[in-house]
Amino acid sequence: MTSDTTPATFQDLGLISPLLARIVELEYSQPTPIQAQAIPSVLAKRDLIAGANTGSGKTATFALPLLQHIYEDAPLSTRKNEVKPQGNYVSGLILVPTRELAKQVADSIKSYAVHFNGAIKTVAVFGGVSTNTQMLSLRGGTDILVATPGRLLDLISSNAIKLDNVKTLILDEADRMLSLGFTDELSELLALLPKQKQTLLFSATFPEQVKTLTEELLDNPIEIQVQSADSSTLVQRVFTVNKGNKTALLAHLIKTHQWRQVLIFVNAKSSCNHLADKLSKRGIVADVFHGDKGQSARTRVLEAFKTGEIDVLIATDIAARGLDIEKLPVVINFDLPRSPSDYMHRIGRSGRAGEVGLAFSLIDHEDYHHFKIIEKKNKIRLEREQIEGFEADETVSEPVAKPMAKPEGTGKKKRKNKPPINADIWLKNT
Ligand code: AMP
Repeated sequence: MTSDTTPATFQDLGLISPLLARIVELEYSQPTPIQAQAIPSVLAKRDLIAGANTGSGKTATFALPLLQHIYEDAPLSTRKNEVKPQGNYVSGLILVPTRELAKQVADSIKSYAVHFNGAIKTVAVFGGVSTNTQMLSLRGGTDILVATPGRLLDLISSNAIKLDNVKTLILDEADRMLSLGFTDELSELLALLPKQKQTLLFSATFPEQVKTLTEELLDNPIEIQVQSADSSTLVQRVFTVNKGNKTALLAHLIKTHQWRQVLIFVNAKSSCNHLADKLSKRGIVADVFHGDKGQSARTRVLEAFKTGEIDVLIATDIAARGLDIEKLPVVINFDLPRSPSDYMHRIGRSGRAGEVGLAFSLIDHEDYHHFKIIEKKNKIRLEREQIEGFEADETVSEPVAKPMAKPEGTGKKKRKNKPPINADIWLKNT
């Protein structure tokens, strides 16, 4: 890890004046820790592994040196015909897990590049929209391409872009990319890239898959960690999806990740069996755990789940509070819990000590409002994400909250039946 003796100003970092001028306009008074530590090395074309979250200033950390390199190496627009590569080449490739991030990163890059007066071309490509416009914007190549892996592979196979001339590869949010099941796509893409290139990898966490990737991909990298060591090991994520696609998305997640021990929450006993049937039609064996099961059946199921005989368990909230098992690697809210505090109970099942736990929520349009309430009550704010191939329609307007979406305490009947605060004890005694 690098030391904390960091340059105090952007001028100290070695950036050129069109970038410095923009930084002044954006009122960035001083580099963030990751910018201060990483930018000089990235400008010197070193590989980089950075442990950094959104909000750390990581985008500028890779975007500013990338723009500088491209500008100094002559951007596409200034190249003479004879040195202009034939075909649709790209110089700086940024791979990101979601289309929201693709748009956001491309917008940031365009903003940092305003004083290059259009000399540097940046394109973003991602799934969920037609490829035609993206193919058109890739005509003649691009200096910088921000892409989600699946869509990029599609565009490569239709010859809209070639990766042979990539000089810089950036993997942004590598852990999210891998946790979203992009492993195969990534391997395919990496095989298409030239061996000689600068590689920068950003990740909030470093699970085994990311470590393997860094070992394979990076050459004598500098390593920077800007998160605090005690940051939560539980990663909460929320995916928007059309109601009719929820089971398909769930099956996709289970299959691509090959999770061992995934606990899926639904809101009703009948939904447990219903969902188990639907998953079974998709080739996934799941067992159920709810209040209608006798104690001995529950114990049996739990035992099988603990020992790994059952990989997928679908449960009602009875499991959120009373489950006597070690923490789990993955918890999924297939249905949102009625009360915000149940959300915390549910996700609290995940996140083993020292290991990253995942808590995914799948929300359709009817859940949007209720999820906002859950966030507000629990003082969290999560980015809405989409998974390629399962994107929620944007055209459906947000409905008014359903009755079940009322915040905790407003449902008269529910209030009476609410278990006491120490639910573990309550469950054991009933
Ligand atoms: P990021 O972590 O890249 O998503 O950046 C988070 C936010 O911080 C973005 O809105 C950036 O515009 C902003 N930002 C990045 N670097 C700085 C800086 N040095 N000073 C102030 N804001 C910054």
